Amino acid sequence: MPSLPITVTLDVEDHLGRYEADGRYVANTERVLAFLAERGARGTFFIVGRVAEAAPGLVRKIAAAGHELACHSYRHTPLERESPATFRAETGLAKTLIEQAGGAPVAGYRAPLFSLTPRTAWAVTELGALGFRYSSSIVPAANPRYGYPGVPRTPFRWANGLVELPVPLVRFGPAQLPFLGGIYLRYLPAGLVRRWARARRDGVLWTYLHPYDFDAAEPYSPMPDTAAWISLLLWFKRGGTWDKLAGLLELGVGRPLGVRVNEAELIIRTSDVKI
Ligand SMILES: [Zn+2]
Repeated sequence: MPSLPITVTLDVEDHLGRYEADGRYVANTERVLAFLAERGARGTFFIVGRVAEAAPGLVRKIAAAGHELACHSYRHTPLERESPATFRAETGLAKTLIEQAGGAPVAGYRAPLFSLTPRTAWAVTELGALGFRYSSSIVPAANPRYGYPGVPRTPFRWANGLVELPVPLVRFGPAQLPFLGGIYLRYLPAGLVRRWARARRDGVLWTYLHPYDFDAAEPYSPMPDTAAWISLLLWFKRGGTWDKLAGLLELGVGRPLGVRVNEAELIIRTSDVKI
């Protein structure tokens, strides 16, 4: 059987939280755009509202290259540190900023750090009220940091109609690894990741990366709100990201998530998941 196609998603944020108009996230995102253009791949870019404020030209370039624009919060605050009222105001602002900068409607949302959990499930109601059609915000298992055990591992619909695309996981011993992105993709052997991806037979596969995941030349700086050892872990092992992504795309390139939500290939197996 052929492999499932893999959609490229990028979370466009400044990992140092500075959001300057010429921060490294701008040039790194432009390098990712060039890489995807060479391969004819169109994906989904989840953009932090402050990026759209600081660098609206970057958002325009992403849209002009044919990628889907989506929202990755206003200031990258994990959901458990938000109240429903501030979340609504700031996420609405971020959505508007991205739509204005890119000239295209935004249908998708991804919570910072996949922080949609049973404790923050109120966000589902807010996202529906803000007009989002899908979310990509959940680790569908117990997880040391954030996780939502018990929900389906393949795309499903919340009771208010919002579609959820959970992060693809692989079972590895007692652990469930979100193997197609971030630190997992950077540290796991390329051959193993490809084998796991090729073995998947259901769900929507997507890889999640950040501009800094490609930035092997960046001098070390500690990340805000992050333990020193995690900052170091996030700084090492960036040099291989291009080859790993290229290797995954050889298995088959998926279309942007917003397109796939609309199409028959997305089979929603469980309806009306309650919050
Ligand atoms: Zn993020």
